[in-house]
Amino acid sequence: MLIVQKYGGTSVGSIERIKAVAQRVKRAADRGDQVVVVVSAMSGDTNNLIDMALKISKTPTTREMDMLLSSGERVTCALTAIALSELGANAIALTGRQAGIVTDGVHTKARIEEVPSEPILKHLREGKIAVIAGFQGITRDGDVTTLGRGGSDLTAVAIAGAIKADLCEIYTDVDGVYTTDPRIEDKAKKLDRISYDEMLELASLGAKVLQNRSVELAKKLRVKLVTRSSFNDREGTLITSEEECMEKPIVSGVALDKNQARASLIRVEDRPGVAAEIFGALASAAINVDMIVQTIGRDGKTNLDFTIPSAELEQTKRALKDFGGALDKQEFDDQVCKVSIVGVGMKSHSGVAARLFSSLAKENINILMISTSEIKVSVVIERKYGELAVRILHAAYDLDK
Ligand code: ADP
Ligand code: ASP
Ligand code: MG
Repeated sequence: MLIVQKYGGTSVGSIERIKAVAQRVKRAADRGDQVVVVVSAMSGDTNNLIDMALKISKTPTTREMDMLLSSGERVTCALTAIALSELGANAIALTGRQAGIVTDGVHTKARIEEVPSEPILKHLREGKIAVIAGFQGITRDGDVTTLGRGGSDLTAVAIAGAIKADLCEIYTDVDGVYTTDPRIEDKAKKLDRISYDEMLELASLGAKVLQNRSVELAKKLRVKLVTRSSFNDREGTLITSEEECMEKPIVSGVALDKNQARASLIRVEDRPGVAAEIFGALASAAINVDMIVQTIGRDGKTNLDFTIPSAELEQTKRALKDFGGALDKQEFDDQVCKVSIVGVGMKSHSGVAARLFSSLAKENINILMISTSEIKVSVVIERKYGELAVRILHAAYDLDK
């Protein structure tokens, strides 16, 4: 078999952990599998690097941030290859550039444009284990880029797709995908399977067990994706097509995203083109706007509320600076979070959202914004109620049963 194994931050979080990872990789190689390893930086390292930069500048240049952040994965990829060699395996460490990963130039959240298979296959043919630094690539001009937080998952899936791997295993610190974050609700249940679409929603809505773009790409390239623990040998969770998921529970999982902020634009001019101008400016600044709520206009004015990642709040304020004339007031709230329920079964059931609203109402949790799609319902609430709301909804949809 041709396998890509990706090890996350905790899995390579210490020298002991790296040695354990090398053992696991070696076992696969000894079984006769061809193995490509993708590693994250040691847990906490990427955050430490960001903190260091922020101690120097509030707005560090993103190109230089990528130079800085890409270093974390270089460390673990070299150490893992060294650990493999020590076990007698033939391993080679490769940076994103050496693995041939080409991205666009949107620093700190670059998109992969090309992953040629040859730079990796060449090493496999020579009987080597390729150990690749995740989370990074290079632009056509030769600048180092990173793929957004959690981006090593994306590296793994992109490589698995490029070399047509039989399996892409994402090794992490939990046994697989659960009905909700097991750190928030210890009654959470591990799922044996979940559809790409549900996983994509959960990941996009805050379940960081997989990076959302990696799930999107896995679906597109039909990569067989499994998440499992690097701390034991239990079977993980298979992320697969909906047809292969026998059960279609109404709600499969609950997700919490605490890194949300809300912007409220009050009494915006109610004329064609205003939304296009405002959201156009945010798009040019590469800000990820999520929920948008516009109230019905009155006296030629309307209110626009939307959510953005907290980390992009300052950028959002800057991007909106020029719109002073088109609205009365701008307000920002950094103390909100988004709680969501996800499930393909929602498509064919009614009353799913109503149960969410009544469950939160019973606990006196006020809903600030609502958004729905075919397979999810999300609400924005005060951040301090985030974990409580997750537990309430987990029980309300019988996910602990
Ligand atoms: P890694 O460093 O291996 O990439 P992450 O920290 O990015 O790991 O993701 C694993 C974490 O995701 C778990 O420790 C868990 O707290 C969290 N998580 C959030 N939602 C879920 C979920 N539904 N199922 C499993 N883990 C989840
Ligand atoms: N080290 C990066 C991060 O912390 C990428 C990853 O771990 O996947 O976001
Ligand atoms: Mg991760």
